[in-house]
Amino acid sequence: MPADRKKRKGRPGKITKKNPYPNEYDYLRQKTWKGCQCDGECDPDCCPCQKDGKQCGRSCSCPASCRHRIRHTCGCIGKLCDASCSCFKAGYACGGRCGCECGHLHLREFPQTEVRESQTLGAGQGLFAKEEIPKGTIIGLMEGTPIRHGEQSSFNMFDLAADVALECRKEGVYFVNEKKNKDSNAVFKYIESSRRREVVLFAKKRIKKAEELSAQYTSPSATPGCVYPADTGDYILAKPDPDVDELWVGKVTGTKGRKLVQVAWLLRKEDVDRYLPSRIVMKLKEDMRDGELIMTKNWDDEFTRDYIVQTVFVEERKPEGQLHKNTWWWTRTYNKKTKTVRGKY
Ligand SMILES: [Zn+2]
Ligand SMILES: [Zn+2]
Ligand SMILES: [Zn+2]
Ligand SMILES: [Zn+2]
Ligand SMILES: [Zn+2]
Ligand SMILES: [Zn+2]
Repeated sequence: MPADRKKRKGRPGKITKKNPYPNEYDYLRQKTWKGCQCDGECDPDCCPCQKDGKQCGRSCSCPASCRHRIRHTCGCIGKLCDASCSCFKAGYACGGRCGCECGHLHLREFPQTEVRESQTLGAGQGLFAKEEIPKGTIIGLMEGTPIRHGEQSSFNMFDLAADVALECRKEGVYFVNEKKNKDSNAVFKYIESSRRREVVLFAKKRIKKAEELSAQYTSPSATPGCVYPADTGDYILAKPDPDVDELWVGKVTGTKGRKLVQVAWLLRKEDVDRYLPSRIVMKLKEDMRDGELIMTKNWDDEFTRDYIVQTVFVEERKPEGQLHKNTWWWTRTYNKKTKTVRGKY
């Protein structure tokens, strides 16, 4: 079951004569993620931008003379703007009046990156810089389709507006793995472009060639993200004993209220030595592959969500192609009661 996302919603600000744009920058209180299609000067009674309590932007079709339009130009001359540009900081792509060479944000050429095996535990694939990326560089756009999310969330959806999420296409910056803000080298940000509201990734520090990119997903509503509490069917990394520096892989098999989760454990190659009878370990050690996990039966635990470190990707079949240590999958099950291993890899 997809997770409930009520937490992110807030009430839209009240539109008054004095404050006609109370929701400017409060992206998830807005209903729209694309400009209005008004013919002439926007009318507060029917223009969706005005009803949303925000200014008209780059993708609105109202005339430049519309008094609700932002009039933002940067002073950058003859270059591609980066995160230090005043347009970017204000949350807008550059427009025709800017002196830079940005053009349309969604048509821009971004630094070269490649998708390969992540260095993050259990993360599967990740995105790496193929060239050095200077601090502030816009690394790429999240591509996808805006859809009504119906209060459900998933790894593939980034919030775009109150009821709308971007269903991300599995390419480019989609492969950026999550790290908390303090440990990551990149940041997601909303930018209003001539196409629609975009989710862009930019370098918050200098990124070396071959370095893996990372950014925080779950964040306050001013920056893009997806709220995704672990739910039934998800795989997690947990630290069940706060005093022992040991991570366990588990599958959430159920939840009780908001706090408790039931988890079935999976054993990594390095775990089987310690937790399985030696006659089984001998056999397993011979043919257990890199990245293979052994699902357990009759070995569940119940604990609070506080012990969950993060959600991870685990395939329930042998992945195609090359097997890696950080691409996790399982096909065999160890039954704790009968002390036997079942299944084939
Ligand atoms: Zn307008
Ligand atoms: Zn309008
Ligand atoms: Zn508008
Ligand atoms: Zn520019
Ligand atoms: Zn600029
Ligand atoms: Zn500009």
